[in-house]
Amino acid sequence: MASSSSLFLLAALLALASWQAIAFDPSPLQDFCVADMSSPVRVNGFVCKDPMAVNSDDFFNPAMLDQPRDTMNKVGSNVTNINVDNFPGLNTLGISLARIDYAPLGVNPPHIHPRATELLTVLEGTLYLGFVTSNPNRLFSKVVKKGDVFVFPKAMIHFQMNLAHDKPAAALSSLNSQNPGVITVASAVFGSKPPISDDLLAKAFQVEKKLIDWLQSQFWENNY
Ligand code: MN
Repeated sequence: MASSSSLFLLAALLALASWQAIAFDPSPLQDFCVADMSSPVRVNGFVCKDPMAVNSDDFFNPAMLDQPRDTMNKVGSNVTNINVDNFPGLNTLGISLARIDYAPLGVNPPHIHPRATELLTVLEGTLYLGFVTSNPNRLFSKVVKKGDVFVFPKAMIHFQMNLAHDKPAAALSSLNSQNPGVITVASAVFGSKPPISDDLLAKAFQVEKKLIDWLQSQFWENNY
């Protein structure tokens, strides 16, 4: 007869297994399911367009990802996302793409993709990049150059910076979700609407409340 502690362990393992099963985009159950963006039906993802109405252009996006993007903003970077929102053919395929452009010394600030691992290839320039693990927060970082590849495991806080003072840099990332999502740490903590209590944040960050108020009064720009 199973002891109560082994039953508890079994229940915990089952809970973990079912959580793992929904942690990634589910596998497709047909060749394709081009998103019907005009359907009012709410499902996990998007409902399928009539397969007979699908044509080659549904699997094509003239994204011009070979072209540099404007990086004139506070953080000096620009992320161009190619995901199910602007490419309905990606629906149910569990994949998306992003081009990241960096101004000289530009930063892609610490952020999380709640639904995807990110595989980054440096197209141009030299980047300092890395990610931080779950508590107790080990940092894995590296300086990478054109042609190098680095992986940010799913849901880890990660970042990049162009180390060059005088020239731009660029990277291309593939992500294993049709809709990876982005949580930018600074804007999530200090720029939420409505704001998180400044009493709470002052205690959490162990700083004066007026510093929190100053941070909360800043404009937290999204770089995508
Ligand atoms: Mn990222």
